[in-house]
Amino acid sequence: EVKDIGSRQYCFYEESMNSDHLERIQLEHALHQALEKDEFLLYYQPIIDVQAGRLCGVEALIRWQHPFQGLVPPGLFIGLLETTGLIIPVGEWIMRTAFQHFHNWAPAVDDDFRIAINLSPQQFQAPDLLPTILRILEESSLAPHRLEVEITENIVMQNVTATQNLLNALQSHGIRLSMDDFGTGYSSLSYLKTFPFNTLKIDRSFTKDILHTPKDAAIIQAILLLGNGFNLNIIAEGIEEESQARCLYDLGCREMQGYWFSHPLSEAEITAFLAEGNFQRFCLG
Ligand code: C2E
Ligand code: MG
Ligand code: MG
Ligand code: MG
Repeated sequence: EVKDIGSRQYCFYEESMNSDHLERIQLEHALHQALEKDEFLLYYQPIIDVQAGRLCGVEALIRWQHPFQGLVPPGLFIGLLETTGLIIPVGEWIMRTAFQHFHNWAPAVDDDFRIAINLSPQQFQAPDLLPTILRILEESSLAPHRLEVEITENIVMQNVTATQNLLNALQSHGIRLSMDDFGTGYSSLSYLKTFPFNTLKIDRSFTKDILHTPKDAAIIQAILLLGNGFNLNIIAEGIEEESQARCLYDLGCREMQGYWFSHPLSEAEITAFLAEGNFQRFCLG
């Protein structure tokens, strides 16, 4: 076999000897199968209004129940879903599944309870994102105002005009818009002025050391001032301790999400969490 090898085949041989490359191909194959074999799961993390001691909604977070490796976090496979385009069918699966789950919770939640769904840039660039979302909402009998799509600043800056049209269209259908990981990307304050966001999520990188880093506290104060001026809901992400929650509350932050309130929960766990209620225990007011 060796004698007849042409240069292209040789190249391929060289490349596939690279273990990273091989692993990537295996992972890609496994991800294709994961969708077919129904190995993806959604976890849900509560978002709490700490002033009222109320539940605002949940964020859906994908996991992969790998047959041998256990529960795999999205950081290890979202990137590959994105570069292979698999995020398109998986993204539809995420919405369908979360909207279905909502019907189990509906009796326990308020009228303004929202389901936050993360969108990848590839989903955002697909020409049929809006009709796809509208179709899945309709098929799931979910009111558009229940859905809040989370996008990052980097999505916005890739094509400002197209983004503006899409965001306006989503908003005109009653779908809510959230800017995720605010402050970590190529933030431009003018995006907040131009685009119809409802919610702004302050990234954990600003909240994690808030007790000991006056500069982080100053940044958060500035974000709160700006966000309040624009009438946005502002969610502080990554709250792990009561002292952080209190500090953010004293700065004027009302909505929070993080391990101190609850880790992301499986569908069975979040259903029990919602049925139990008792969110007053999170009231800081
Ligand atoms: P994200 O949207 O910013 O989600 C927040 C991440 O912070 C989640 O990680 C969550 O589990 C974690 N987290 C929540 N509270 C705390 C805390 O108190 N401390 C710490 N250290 N972490 C906390 P996760 O689930 O691993 O997701 C990571 C990222 O993967 C997400 O960041 C999001 O960008 C992406 N992702 C997750 N699910 C999906 C999805 O369904 N679709 C898409 N397109 N992306 C997703
Ligand atoms: Mg998010
Ligand atoms: Mg986030
Ligand atoms: Mg984040």
